[in-house]
Amino acid sequence: VVDAHCDTVQKMLEPSFDFSIAHERGHVDLPRLRAGGVTGQVFAAWVSPDVEPEATVASAREQLATIVSATQRHADDLVLARRAADVRAAQEAGKVAAVLAIEGGHLIANSLDHLEAFAHAGAVYLTLTHAQHNDWADSAGIDEPLAPKHNGLTDFGREIIRAMNRLGMIVDVSHVSEKTVRDVLETSDAPVIASHSSCHAVSPHCRNLSDDLLRAIAECGGVVHINFAALFIDPAPAPMTYEDHATWWCDEDVAARLQTECTTTLALLVDHFDHALQVVGPAHVGFGSDFDGVPALPVGMESCAFLPRITAELLRRGYAEDDLRPMLGENFLRVLEACQASG
Ligand SMILES: [Zn+2]
Repeated sequence: VVDAHCDTVQKMLEPSFDFSIAHERGHVDLPRLRAGGVTGQVFAAWVSPDVEPEATVASAREQLATIVSATQRHADDLVLARRAADVRAAQEAGKVAAVLAIEGGHLIANSLDHLEAFAHAGAVYLTLTHAQHNDWADSAGIDEPLAPKHNGLTDFGREIIRAMNRLGMIVDVSHVSEKTVRDVLETSDAPVIASHSSCHAVSPHCRNLSDDLLRAIAECGGVVHINFAALFIDPAPAPMTYEDHATWWCDEDVAARLQTECTTTLALLVDHFDHALQVVGPAHVGFGSDFDGVPALPVGMESCAFLPRITAELLRRGYAEDDLRPMLGENFLRVLEACQASG
């Protein structure tokens, strides 16, 4: 079972955070990964776009190093995985595989050398943008749709896609604009993923993917990993004040209150999986929780410990076990293998 996206590294940067004990707050730690049956967790490094480029690269490096040192500190439970075979071997050994990724093209500071260094450090994918445009790719925005800046990818953006293909890195189209996805699909030789994006047809949020894009990603052999955030999956999420919006990610009390106020149902989250399964079939859907990167999760999905509830609800809705198995992790591993084989 692989979850293609969490932001837990932001918590792990705090020296007082102990990844090996179960926490009341936050969404991911070792005991709860075990409880949720997760055998592979992708940890994404992210840096605020307000940070200047050199410090951004340094911070991204530090975040990747933080995950690597967690695998050394908790070596009985957690192991660094760079390839699909490593994830499978971790499961065989009864351990959780930690997989590295970079969220936001601005983290490479417009340098193919930095991109290559992140690939060599073990980052398996780069999410091309975060919630803002960067110098070479348009974002979809996060609060409301952004007006285009480059109309998709620039020439340098296309160069980055080709470099990622060569490096065996997966191109992640979560967060990017529809036109950027189209430009990526036109440029990339390898399948791409959306590491944490849900369905626009179920909830018309600018971070979600239209059915046309779901199909286009599937046609290249890629996978859409469904995001669990109430804010994205619920057409009428619990309202947030401007202040909540600005503070939830750095104030655990605010985050805890927003979670208590959340009324989004687990059934609605499963509607997104159900919809994606209907539109693109079981070979192109996966988990992309966005744990520890979002203010509130559906009631009953407050941490990674509850992941099996999605599968249980889909079984209850009539899906066969064999139809759901690829979604649990094999789809992600298939794309990882395809990208690394052609890289
Ligand atoms: Zn994100």
